[in-house]
Amino acid sequence: MKLGKILVTSAWPYIQHVLHLGNLLPILSADVMARYYRLKGHEVLFVSGSDVHGTPVEVEAVKQGVSPKELTDKNHELVVELFKKWAISFDNYTTTESPVHKEFVMDFHRKVAENGYVFTQESELPYCPNCKRFLPDRFVEGECPYCGYKGARGDQCEQCGRLLDPTKLIDARCSICGASPLFRRTVHWYFDLPRFSDQLREYITNNKQFPDNARNFSLRFIKEGLKPRPMTRDSDWGIPAPFEGAEGKTLYVWFENVLGYVSATIEYFKTHGDPDRWKEYWFDKDSKVLCFIGKDNIPFHTIIFPALLLATHEGYNLPWNVSTNEWLNFEGQKSSKSRKIGIWIDEALEMFPADYWRYTLMANRPETSDTNFTWKIFLEKINSDLNDTLGNFIHRTLTFINNYYDGKIPKPEKLDDIDRKMLDAISEYFKEIDENLSYFHIQAATRKVIELAREGNRYLNEKKPWKTIV
Ligand SMILES: [Zn+2]
Ligand SMILES: [Zn+2]
Repeated sequence: MKLGKILVTSAWPYIQHVLHLGNLLPILSADVMARYYRLKGHEVLFVSGSDVHGTPVEVEAVKQGVSPKELTDKNHELVVELFKKWAISFDNYTTTESPVHKEFVMDFHRKVAENGYVFTQESELPYCPNCKRFLPDRFVEGECPYCGYKGARGDQCEQCGRLLDPTKLIDARCSICGASPLFRRTVHWYFDLPRFSDQLREYITNNKQFPDNARNFSLRFIKEGLKPRPMTRDSDWGIPAPFEGAEGKTLYVWFENVLGYVSATIEYFKTHGDPDRWKEYWFDKDSKVLCFIGKDNIPFHTIIFPALLLATHEGYNLPWNVSTNEWLNFEGQKSSKSRKIGIWIDEALEMFPADYWRYTLMANRPETSDTNFTWKIFLEKINSDLNDTLGNFIHRTLTFINNYYDGKIPKPEKLDDIDRKMLDAISEYFKEIDENLSYFHIQAATRKVIELAREGNRYLNEKKPWKTIV
């Protein structure tokens, strides 16, 4: 039987800073699943990249007094090195500044516009009289009108995940200088999202493997009524908006970074001398596209990205699953660079080897609700699971084979009941681990692996092979 191809993707991290452990979750989860599908014999391509555009980068560059390009070139290089040390098995980790990406995105949006899904509209947007610029997205902060979160941004509330419109923020202020913005008229290009409401509802309802968090959020979002979304920004840093009359405007990051899943596939095959093969992943109906994201990215992956793919009328595969993690808190609090709360992926590796972190993060993966990282849990997982159980089992087994059998595994002679029970347990665990992973229950799968090692220790204790050997 020929197995279908699987494109594994993880949300493109913003790299205004090095990532914290919570930011790494989608990437690490994607890595685990890419390895799993490769072991199962699928042809797998695992792609992602640095999201270098957008206001988080611009805001940070202004603060550091460097250009966005300088900041992101430096951070991209750093992050690429770190992902190697974390043993993330990317086939292509690129950036949104890649020429392949920029060209693909501009062509793509020209098509979406030709198909009649783009229109212009004049609106009032926040403008800082002090900084003399419009304040898109993270350049403006205020209180969320839905949940009351004080640090909501112009495009989205991090707390409740809702997409926002900057005019709705309560007590809006410029995030560079803190001044209250004025509202000025400007023209923007809008994506006609409401026209996809029915198709999206059907897509989300029919994709049974979507996790509950992504499905419920998305269906509620559609039920509340989709609105046209602005695709352009008054900003220099980004991909030029390819629409007639849009000179000087760039594309809003969420209308280009998600297209990176496609462009990174194109780039991979282009550099491997097979420029048409990307289509097998994006158009063959037995291929699957998998997205791994954090919960604040849900609407962009279950609503905006599929709607954009539909808007081309070209028959793209829509994401088959959007595996969404909840938050990993640090000692009970949200990670925050400015408040110095959390652990960053560079300093983590200065303290302990990558495998310790990879295991602890997956064993504690927030799948259905937020989880908490504490040093106590970390030590328990390392000492009890990895050292006492798994490490001990492997060490005992290898030492035994080395001491008595010269490092070669001998042929078993007669099996007794204990042996047969153990062999049955192994195939039972194997099945359960496989099943858990096929449902993206990575946390449960890691637990089963440790239980199997525990069974192995029990077996050795019971059989005491070092006593019966002659
Ligand atoms: Zn300002
Ligand atoms: Zn909110």
